[in-house]
Amino acid sequence: MEHQSSVTYGNDYKNGYKQTDESNTGWGYKFDFIIVHESAHEWFGNSITTKDIADMWVHEAFGAYSESLFLNYHFGRQACSDYVIGTRTKIRNDRPIIGPYNVNTEGSHDMYYKGANMLHTLRQVMNDDEKFRQMIRGLSKTFYQQTVTTEQIEKYMSQAAGRDLNPFFDQYLRDTRIPVLEYSVTGKTLKYRWSNCVDGFDMPIKISVNKTTKWLSPSTVWKEMIVKKASEIKPDVNFYVMTKKL
Ligand SMILES: [Zn+2]
Repeated sequence: MEHQSSVTYGNDYKNGYKQTDESNTGWGYKFDFIIVHESAHEWFGNSITTKDIADMWVHEAFGAYSESLFLNYHFGRQACSDYVIGTRTKIRNDRPIIGPYNVNTEGSHDMYYKGANMLHTLRQVMNDDEKFRQMIRGLSKTFYQQTVTTEQIEKYMSQAAGRDLNPFFDQYLRDTRIPVLEYSVTGKTLKYRWSNCVDGFDMPIKISVNKTTKWLSPSTVWKEMIVKKASEIKPDVNFYVMTKKL
């Protein structure tokens, strides 16, 4: 656990978390969960600390995503994806990740794995791993040994990503709904839109059309794209969204 200037350890020096794999993919047995997760708290939790524990996703989403980034470094991108996607079974979507302010109350436990999947989704949206890495390093540099609010972190991330992430953060941090990419293919016309989401949700998403990668920029109104007849459409599973083929 994170504490000012030190983290505490208790995992019997064994791989996994209490000898289980948080992701159920096998990748969780490749490292000592507590060493990786708690070490991440030296940056997110000890160096950058939230003023109100309602915003504690800033500690735990980055802490949880560090587990996937550790796998990414040692075993590659697929291991990272498999692990973070595997942890989705632990997401409850019971309450928003951000809790009520000024009453010393945390938000949902989803700050861990929904938070990690949010960051993994943002990494796909940015589509530039170096830019994503520099954003994380920049957070550490900019907010070094400070207490912060979620707004400061969100604003910094929007600037680093080069896009307005307000609807993105409202969706994943302040709402329990998971956006649904609705789509249909009629003849050569692919129609698509976001539903079950906050107003103005406009996250781009990567799909494969007959195994070729394409980017869509859906909004809450229907848009169209011309594809080949009877195209096979597959939304990228790295984005934490639901999909519905109509
Ligand atoms: Zn933690």
